[in-house]
Amino acid sequence: MSDNAFKLPEVQVNTFKKSNPVTGKVIENTEKIVDSTEDNDVRHITIEVPAYHYLEGQSAGVLAPGENEKGKPHAPRLYSIASIGNDSVSYKHLELCVKRVVYQNDAGETVKGVCSNYLADLKAGDEVNITGPFGRNYLLPVEEERNRPYIFVATGTGIAPFRPMIKRLLTETPGFNSDVFLFFGGRYMGEMLYKDEFESYKQENFHYIISRSREQQTPDGKRLYVHHQMMNHEDVLLPVIKNPDTLIYICGLKGMVDGVNEALDFYAGKLGQNPEEFKKTFEGRILKEVY
Ligand code: NAP
Repeated sequence: MSDNAFKLPEVQVNTFKKSNPVTGKVIENTEKIVDSTEDNDVRHITIEVPAYHYLEGQSAGVLAPGENEKGKPHAPRLYSIASIGNDSVSYKHLELCVKRVVYQNDAGETVKGVCSNYLADLKAGDEVNITGPFGRNYLLPVEEERNRPYIFVATGTGIAPFRPMIKRLLTETPGFNSDVFLFFGGRYMGEMLYKDEFESYKQENFHYIISRSREQQTPDGKRLYVHHQMMNHEDVLLPVIKNPDTLIYICGLKGMVDGVNEALDFYAGKLGQNPEEFKKTFEGRILKEVY
């Protein structure tokens, strides 16, 4: 049972399991979709996958070849699908937004994320085994309940599911005319994923608001994060926050959840309401996918 405060569409899940994955073929692995730095190599990967039925917000599992330290095959790693779903054709493709994970562990050794490095190194024509799709709840409402305001809040590659959701709302939902806010956070201007695409939407109801944590600061000298921008845009956001139909989707770093709560407390204050009571009114209307 879902506790979403709206009707969810029917979706297929787990069509392809670990024991019978579908084999996709890489069409393109686009490097440098943002300014690459040593610690920020993000790819946009397009994979042709036959008969893979998904909707915006669902994830795909990727099976990296090889074995883990226990000699067992690697478990599938989940990635939010960054492309718009399409139910009507048998040919399918899906797109992923993948950041190559490389970090130093406590012992000072360099650790490379198994699946992200496997995906980042794939070339056009390579095959990749996919499971899923996964996720029944982190979806847009059914079309008849979809025309309502949205606040999307993302950091880094957490933007992946919002790219197709926003495309669906702005270009594929007839008569859609509600406000859509996208608060996106990265470190530098060069890390604003899919910026050109978001800026290409000219609809007046679309509000694209970025924060550049290493280039912008709050008045008290902190790194500027997405929730600060939510509070900075009171003039346009207050009516949307007040609207009981508004849905808030959060995706990316876990720490954002506290920030969004801080922004809701701020708006409760503006509306003269008790913050806890105010936040309760968002039950079933805040959807999170955070790590
Ligand atoms: P990142 O580059 O580490 O961070 C992006 C931005 O978030 C930076 O500007 C960072 O600021 C800021 N930030 C740090 N803490 C924050 C907080 N508490 N509140 C608000 N902003 C904060 O991001 P990333 O490496 O791309 O990681 C994004 C997350 O999304 C990962 O956890 C990933 O697993 C997850 N995700 C990925 C997918 C996918 O399909 N690829 C889907 C869903 C979620 P500073 O560094 O300057 O402090």
